[in-house]
Amino acid sequence: MTVRGRTVRERLVVVGNGMAATRLVEDLVRREAPYDITVIGDEPHPAYNRILLSAVLEEAHRPEDIWLHEPRWYDDHGVRLLLGQRAVRVDRERRRVGLSDGGGCEYDRLVFATGARPVLPPIRGIVDEFGGLRPDVHAFRSYADYGRLREAASTARRAVVVGGGLLGLQVGRALSVVGVDTEIVEVGPMLMARQLGGSAARVLERQVRRLGTEVYTGARAARLTADGMLLDNGYALTTDLVVLACGSRPASRLAERAGLFVRRGVVVDDRLTSIIDDRVHAIGDCAEHRARIHGFVGPAWEQATTLARVLCGEDAGYSGSRIVARLRANGLDVAVLGEPETTDGEVVEVANPLAGTYRKLVVKDGVVAAGVLLGDLSRIGVITQHYDRQTALGAAEPGGLLLGDSAAAPVTELPDDAQVCVCAGVSAGRIRRCRDVSEAVATTRATTGCGSCAGSVAQLVDAGANDGSHNAAAAV
Ligand SMILES: Cc1cc2nc3c(=O)[nH]c(=O)nc-3n(C[C@H](O)[C@H](O)[C@H](O)COP(=O)(O)OP(=O)(O)OC[C@H]3O[C@@H](n4cnc5c(N)ncnc54)[C@H](O)[C@@H]3O)c2cc1C
Repeated sequence: MTVRGRTVRERLVVVGNGMAATRLVEDLVRREAPYDITVIGDEPHPAYNRILLSAVLEEAHRPEDIWLHEPRWYDDHGVRLLLGQRAVRVDRERRRVGLSDGGGCEYDRLVFATGARPVLPPIRGIVDEFGGLRPDVHAFRSYADYGRLREAASTARRAVVVGGGLLGLQVGRALSVVGVDTEIVEVGPMLMARQLGGSAARVLERQVRRLGTEVYTGARAARLTADGMLLDNGYALTTDLVVLACGSRPASRLAERAGLFVRRGVVVDDRLTSIIDDRVHAIGDCAEHRARIHGFVGPAWEQATTLARVLCGEDAGYSGSRIVARLRANGLDVAVLGEPETTDGEVVEVANPLAGTYRKLVVKDGVVAAGVLLGDLSRIGVITQHYDRQTALGAAEPGGLLLGDSAAAPVTELPDDAQVCVCAGVSAGRIRRCRDVSEAVATTRATTGCGSCAGSVAQLVDAGANDGSHNAAAAV
């Protein structure tokens, strides 16, 4: 902004201090963007990798491993961080955000990165007389939720998880791993009903049971009583704690009250800008772009990076994301590319319930339009590459991709442009050029999302060391 010939830094206020906001601020800092940045986060602690909360619950990661930045990082980069402060109102005329402590801050540009809130299902008996959740009933979205659930799990013997989607399976497995007998109740006809069809869901269900977690599909959790959770099919499940994993909805009330255009999320255009106020932007789980809300970290990060470019005056745009959803749960490997159940096309599928594996590709006009891999993800890199690039495939290729012997396709032989980290969108070639894993993490951000690519990244870095790719990179 120029005032009387002098360049004045604009004030950029980011509401929310989650995964999208953190990526946006990192990108702005790296670009030395001309803004005085303030980040408002209502959680009392620094930003963290939300995806890994269930891994922390099952003690596969230490809590301190998931912090994204200490408050000092913000000081060092001249970013003002307000923790434990909730943005309670936005006055768009005065361009001012009101805070929960009665204070406020002015903005020239405002970013909503408020994420999502858990959906609470209509189960009788889950709320106390003050309208809050009963102490033995838990949501699982925040670090505070994790803390409460971990404490409850340390004494509980039995748990019921309501919801058999990605989150319900993650939490259910985590509770089982820490020794709580866990049962999952899913009102839909199958597990992961939004992503999987019958054959895949049957293989998955069998696998979940094999791991010791009971599953009730097509059953509604109806009432929580002193005897446990009553289902509408007449079952009563004895339980010490209940976890609600019934999806989430965009945290867009603040934006709605500010008079912005909100359908489910804050409606933004391809420049991630509100369609009625060009000083206001939205990214991540609270943003609705081309009628879609993604709810995954990959798109949230793509949006953050695009918005950083937009805010720096570049001619950048976001046209949507190709989603690869990974189930990150102990003993369960699932990857879903796009929307295999609703995408038209020819279906090529291979199931081996005995081995707990299932693979499916939906091929339309010769390209991979969607897919599912369950139980054996050894070919995820090469399949994701075809999906991302929309490579034209010959008639026999989809079958070859699914049937290929996993031993014949080691990670180290992935082509350079095969995607290895689906969260951060990093290719095998970029990782090969790194000297060690820490350089790969620092320069590409691979492994910093769901972390399921960590093994592949280590193998690729090692292979690069042996075949001289590092030197080639140094010479570039
Ligand atoms: C347990 C769990 C597992 C997941 N696993 C995966 C996975 O494996 N893969 C995947 O891709 N995605 C996964 N997700 C989804 C992923 O975490 C989200 O897509 C991602 O966090 C979105 O980032 P965000 O910044 O939009 O929202 P968030 O990370 O939710 O951050 C929003 C922040 O804004 C704060 N906030 C809200 N309102 C206000 C306000 N008025 N004032 C101040 N602060 C406010 C919130 O408290 C929160 O800290 C998972 C989510 C959960 C909960």
